[in-house]
Amino acid sequence: MAGAAGRVGSAVVVGASMAGIFAAAALAQSGYQVTVLERDRLPSTARSRRGVPQGEQAHVLLHRGLVTIDELLPGFRAGLLSRGAMPFDTGQMPWLGEFGWLDTSVPAFEVVSATRPLMEAVARERLLELPMVSVRDDVTVSGLVADRRGWRARTAAGEFTSDIVVDASGRSSRLEHWLPGLGRPRVEQVDAQMGYACRLYAERVPTPLRAGVMILNSPMVGTAGLALPVEGDRWLVAAAGFGDKRPPRDEIAFERFLADLPDPGITDLVSLLDPAGPVRIYRQTANQRRRWDRCDGWPRGLLVVGDALCAFNPVYGQGITVAAQQASAIRAALGVGKPIDRLLQRQMIRITDTPWSMATTADLRHPSCPGHLNAGQRLSFAWASRLGRLAAAGDVRCTRSLAAVNHLMVSPVALFHPALVGRVARPIPRRRISRPRVLEDLSQARSSASRRPPPAAPTDA
Ligand SMILES: Cc1cc2nc3c(=O)[nH]c(=O)nc-3n(C[C@H](O)[C@H](O)[C@H](O)COP(=O)(O)OP(=O)(O)OC[C@H]3O[C@@H](n4cnc5c(N)ncnc54)[C@H](O)[C@@H]3O)c2cc1C
Repeated sequence: MAGAAGRVGSAVVVGASMAGIFAAAALAQSGYQVTVLERDRLPSTARSRRGVPQGEQAHVLLHRGLVTIDELLPGFRAGLLSRGAMPFDTGQMPWLGEFGWLDTSVPAFEVVSATRPLMEAVARERLLELPMVSVRDDVTVSGLVADRRGWRARTAAGEFTSDIVVDASGRSSRLEHWLPGLGRPRVEQVDAQMGYACRLYAERVPTPLRAGVMILNSPMVGTAGLALPVEGDRWLVAAAGFGDKRPPRDEIAFERFLADLPDPGITDLVSLLDPAGPVRIYRQTANQRRRWDRCDGWPRGLLVVGDALCAFNPVYGQGITVAAQQASAIRAALGVGKPIDRLLQRQMIRITDTPWSMATTADLRHPSCPGHLNAGQRLSFAWASRLGRLAAAGDVRCTRSLAAVNHLMVSPVALFHPALVGRVARPIPRRRISRPRVLEDLSQARSSASRRPPPAAPTDA
């Protein structure tokens, strides 16, 4: 598909992180000559960088995101796998939710688990294979000007002219300062005051676990833990907490936080690993949406995508997938001859509607989150809770449907399918799914490892 449309114009994309890469791919495949301008000096390997401070935190790429990115940038999935990323079915992942364990024998959706820098490096490599793309790093955009001839992006390296401009500069986008004539967008914000802490570990002894672990508490408790296998026989172990339960940076306190989770699975795992870096914390996690769709006089040739438009509480793992869906929509619109205009910008925000509603409804339940659920949100939450209880009682249909919604594979409307309505109407069985066997194996592995004599001290030659 690349370049199949012939050159139709020029585009500048501000920001070469995930949203910028995807938008650039969509534009290049639609016939635009694309220049991506990035403030950071981009690493030649999969390393974290200043402009993406969240890069050291655990990132899950939902199945919808994996599929969409692989369509936009063919070879993305294979590229991750060839660099050691770990594929697994999230149905096999031991998952302790608010209502109990989920059944690990019910398949769900594939994820390919990797560090965030590896995801970005592989996506960037695929982008650079497209003929009409160039990435200029170490170039900071300081302003935008629109006139009858098109757009000019101001930088210290000179002005870059183009027919269209895409702002993919992330949560701290300065678009409203660059284009004061647009006015200030209304900013929607739902902040549950969630904090993340994450530490990279290396496998010291092989673990029986292949698919990560997720331990969630109820919102009233407000803590959670996640362990993900990533490339290089390493694990990313993340802790999350709301309000005054935010996890600490201190290494001993971090492990104590994990030990206080309602299941010892992650602590058992950590005992088989060696730390491979410090604990990194991250606290800018509010859901934030800039309603550019409601501004009058939106200029032709301008789009805002990714976190610059809508950033989510990361705990739901939606941001990269939404950015990919937006790029896919841009490509589809350009493919049928639609212009880059206010209507397309509206479509960008419509793509955020479902994940926004899912994330904010869940966050508003937390005592640390100012605001209240409205009647519709209370209803949808009550419905989803009922399905969650059924899933924890072993109902396969409910388990699969909830997974499909969480991976953004289907709309939450699917949760009102007649087959589910029938189940919700009946009493919930008392049966509960038991703790996954693999976690018992993990405890065993921990006991055996602690009985093993420590490695012999090196002797002087
Ligand atoms: C702690 C945490 C965990 C997360 N976990 C997940 C997860 O599990 N799954 C998931 O899908 N998403 C997750 N996300 C969200 C995900 O990181 C973002 O949605 C994703 O990176 C897309 O962001 P973006 O490209 O829009 O912006 P960013 O990643 O913020 O990138 C913006 C880019 O623009 C550049 N830039 C900024 N200003 C300028 C300028 N003036 N000139 C030139 N360049 C500029 C920056 O250097 C940067 O490269 C998480 C986020 C956080 C904070």
